[in-house]
Amino acid sequence: MQVIETIGDFRRARAAFGRLGLVPTMGYLHEGHLSLVRQARATCGAVAVSIFVNPTQFGPQEDFATYPRDTERDMRLLRSAPTDLVFVPTVSTMYPQGFASLVEVAGVTEVLEGAARPGHFRGVATVVCKLLNIVQPTHAFFGQKDAQQVVVIQTMVRDLNLPTEVVVGPTVREPDGLAMSSRNTYLSPPERQAATVLYRALVAAQQRYAQGVREGEAMRQTMHQVLDREPLARTDYVSVADPRTLQELDAVGDQGALLSMAVFIGTTRLIDALLLSEP
Ligand code: AMP
Repeated sequence: MQVIETIGDFRRARAAFGRLGLVPTMGYLHEGHLSLVRQARATCGAVAVSIFVNPTQFGPQEDFATYPRDTERDMRLLRSAPTDLVFVPTVSTMYPQGFASLVEVAGVTEVLEGAARPGHFRGVATVVCKLLNIVQPTHAFFGQKDAQQVVVIQTMVRDLNLPTEVVVGPTVREPDGLAMSSRNTYLSPPERQAATVLYRALVAAQQRYAQGVREGEAMRQTMHQVLDREPLARTDYVSVADPRTLQELDAVGDQGALLSMAVFIGTTRLIDALLLSEP
């Protein structure tokens, strides 16, 4: 496994590979990341992982400074994954003095996480575009947990004709349903218990759908009711949206629906999502 910090060295190392899968991450790796690494290896035969806590996707009041970091542990996990190339650039490598270009995806970035976190997806699209240009992977792997991010990246790759295939991996969950996330480490033991409410709310709405309910508002209400019963939870938003446009649905039709939510558990903001497709 080669661990590389600079763009020039990375480009030289990358040249030894043909098909290459990239898994972009912010580190503090867990089984969700590792499942994408395995999927990348199975698809491409060779895997690159980037670890970069990207300052431009954090708002001024957000957790950039305190975001969990443990490079040694990450390297151990990646070595046994296994991984071929690890790209660990510094902030000044990615954003040198004079950096002035941003990638703005309109429309799908204006709702949900984009509305709650202004500028977040500009930071995400910009850094992912840069990583795709540096790594030049044939395939790039993203988790379904960050469902809106997937739509934003797919839109950018399509619109800018980037020569990388976007592959989406399923959400990996703890045994009690909590979606794995580096931010779960912020939760106290009682908060960790309470955090299962996101998945319980998603499953409750999914069950109503399975029972034949199609009204978006009824499913949003079901999610609110489950979330409201958890004293440590404060709902930021719940959504039943078109999986492509991310616009809220009055009724779920042939397009299916993306159920998603952002919920504060104490001061920790968690997101989760579940894709409904026609039964
Ligand atoms: P992050 O390090 O949180 O930026 O995540 C890096 C990549 O891993 C993104 O594509 C995420 O969607 C994906 N990811 C994070 N958590 C999970 C999970 N629980 N299951 C599957 N993919 C995940």
